[in-house]
Amino acid sequence: MKTAHDYFHKYLSQNISDSDVLQRMQNVIAEFSARAPKMIVMKCIDGRVHGSAAKGYPPTTVLFGRTDGNKVSLDRSNFWFWNRIDRVVKSAYFNTPHTPAMFIAFMHHSKSGLGCASHGSNDTEALKSIELQMKEVRRQYREDELFVLGGDTETDTMAEALLFMDGTRLDSAEIIDYCNLNAPADVFHKAFIAQKIDDIATCRNLGHETPAALLQGDNPKFFANLDICLNMQNYLMRTVTTFIRKERTELYRIVRPDVLDLIFNTIEHIDIPVNLLGPIVYQTVWNIAYSLNHRRLLNNMNDAERIAQLDHAEELACYGDGFEVLPRNKSVLVKTGRGDDMEALQVAKAVLEKNRARYHQEHKLLVHINVEVNGQMMQWEDFNDNVGSRILTMLRNAGDVFGTDVAILTSYSYRNEKRFYPVKISREDERLVYPVDVIAPINSIARFSNMLLKAEEAIYRMKFAK
Ligand SMILES: [Zn+2]
Repeated sequence: MKTAHDYFHKYLSQNISDSDVLQRMQNVIAEFSARAPKMIVMKCIDGRVHGSAAKGYPPTTVLFGRTDGNKVSLDRSNFWFWNRIDRVVKSAYFNTPHTPAMFIAFMHHSKSGLGCASHGSNDTEALKSIELQMKEVRRQYREDELFVLGGDTETDTMAEALLFMDGTRLDSAEIIDYCNLNAPADVFHKAFIAQKIDDIATCRNLGHETPAALLQGDNPKFFANLDICLNMQNYLMRTVTTFIRKERTELYRIVRPDVLDLIFNTIEHIDIPVNLLGPIVYQTVWNIAYSLNHRRLLNNMNDAERIAQLDHAEELACYGDGFEVLPRNKSVLVKTGRGDDMEALQVAKAVLEKNRARYHQEHKLLVHINVEVNGQMMQWEDFNDNVGSRILTMLRNAGDVFGTDVAILTSYSYRNEKRFYPVKISREDERLVYPVDVIAPINSIARFSNMLLKAEEAIYRMKFAK
């Protein structure tokens, strides 16, 4: 029998290895980030629309808000919602002057009939939710500080559409159909992918392979290998944003001309801030390749595997922040900032219970609560204010919805690391089945120091690094 403890153990071990890759790739991500706009994406809690991979943005470069069906209270008193946007707006103001931050509120739909559970698969209702957000957010900020967009993910193929305020739709699926693209390599110019990358560092990081070679096969390294994927994202973002400013014809040597023409024709009448044009083109090109790869994966699957891809298959509920490195469809993600977290947690629970009827789980329902920390915790109050007390508040909400018959993991992570450090804020709580508690030996004002915390974190990590 697989216990909740075993589940969490394997889950944490995978998290350690993923966060190690992120740490190694920090320079590449920082380079990407310097050329990308600060971005906030509001999404549904649905695990099928998890993460930023479909947009070509590395983990940690997009700030997410997530609520059931992307329904939120737009009231000013919804501090979490507005503060999350303010964080990105101010980050852009000080770090990327002349490049506004980007806000995208995403809905999702499905051609196979497995749309948004929260809206009862009603696409019109799902659209209404994001339109309300777009309108209200547009009203609160100037165009030169925040560029507001809507988005629509087709969860079967992971094709995304960007919805501009004037109603224009830049849709990867339409471009794929119109230009008759079949494989991920098709979106690029043939000559570009046949050669090795001209940048020496990128070429080295790609193991001196050509993009064409990296795009080959059923599960190409271009997307499946995180190192390679991040390096390609970085290179393409840099190249597209450079050429769009310098010499647009050069862009036609990288992306297939008819694809580029269609993108430019679709958006030419829109007043897009000059520094956002490149990132929007990059994001669209990446998503076309990503979606074509997803289509190919689906075609090579047997029926059971295909249904697991198309439908919900989430194994646990994640509540809080810092889950970006988890794979798609692994967890239902609930963030604070809806105005009423309970409703989102209720939907999460219902989705998991439905999934468990199809994919048998021998253990209790699983909930992972994580708090994300910026910077260092220097004294015990930092830990208590930023982590301990927040976990308590969230644990209470989760408890109200999930009751006592549930296995819960509580942890914190640093924003740039995404490594979960398990902590227990009440030792008697039997729902906290995972035994590790990195804070245990130092959890008081008298015993805490940053150096000891770092030591405990290192010991925890070493246990998994065999
Ligand atoms: Zn949904």
